[in-house]
Amino acid sequence: MAPMPSGIEEFIHSHSTDVVNCPHCGRYVGPLELCVYCRRFHAKRLCTRIVKYVSPLLAIVALGALYGLGEWQGHPSKAIKEISEKNNYAYIRFAGTVCKAPSMYDSEEGGGKTLSFCVDDKSGMLEVKAYAHSTGRMAAAGQIPASGDFVEILANLTIRGDDKSVIINSPDQISVRRSEAEQVLDASALAALKPGLDPGQIRRNAIITMSGTVVYVSAERQPGQYSVFLRLRGKGEGAVGVSIPWDRLESEGAVAAGDHVWAGAPGIGAEVSVTGALRYKEPKVEKGKRKGGWTVDVGHVGDIAPISGGSPQEANRE
Ligand SMILES: [Zn+2]
Repeated sequence: MAPMPSGIEEFIHSHSTDVVNCPHCGRYVGPLELCVYCRRFHAKRLCTRIVKYVSPLLAIVALGALYGLGEWQGHPSKAIKEISEKNNYAYIRFAGTVCKAPSMYDSEEGGGKTLSFCVDDKSGMLEVKAYAHSTGRMAAAGQIPASGDFVEILANLTIRGDDKSVIINSPDQISVRRSEAEQVLDASALAALKPGLDPGQIRRNAIITMSGTVVYVSAERQPGQYSVFLRLRGKGEGAVGVSIPWDRLESEGAVAAGDHVWAGAPGIGAEVSVTGALRYKEPKVEKGKRKGGWTVDVGHVGDIAPISGGSPQEANRE
């Protein structure tokens, strides 16, 4: 090994020993400022002291800055069509309108309902699910959306083959904003309109308020029937369907879980105003009955409001 140039070894030695050895007793104390042998104090160099005492403070400040950065832009909003396989299992944030009335069904593991609905952000549609344990908490927090509601969601994405969905585990992962009604329509006037056509650019999924007289009520729960169904006639001939899911009546306490009749349903002849999202199916005549046309999907029990009373409820009468 080549000999070290003269002076270097002495320099390193002198430089380190006056830092790591106690100047009072000469023994090695390493980074300690209080000698463990003679109990006397030996201040390290200024820059060493600054680094030593300021670094915990710097660490705290930096953690705060990281936390702030995460809160501020941790999960940037994504357009639904930009979501791809590489986002699988990631937390994603997106916002849009609920496409149709959410469905709730008894979950396989029991103990509650599984909730499922779709969200449309105009770039695409995405399915959102919540399992029994979270559906109950969402209902209690008033965070189960209705058709046409604007929702913002931060949740876990799962992609399996062609199936894309996000799963909500807690009510604070969704914020629901009830849309204001865009216009007020008479039931018969609405029945005469076609989607996308003037007047008023009436379109699917728009939130509207409609008034009319109840001409048909189906408020008895039957197998395979998931909604209470009404028909309203306005100041003309045509009528429009109105639907509210049984699950919604249950989750809002209008009926008990085992109830087979919604006693609070408006009766035939009652004049009511309803608010909800518009759904449209091409009208056709089936077995002599007119089917299709507009339906208003009511989101909340309170969105069916009486204007004046009718006869007591008579179910299944046209
Ligand atoms: Zn000492």
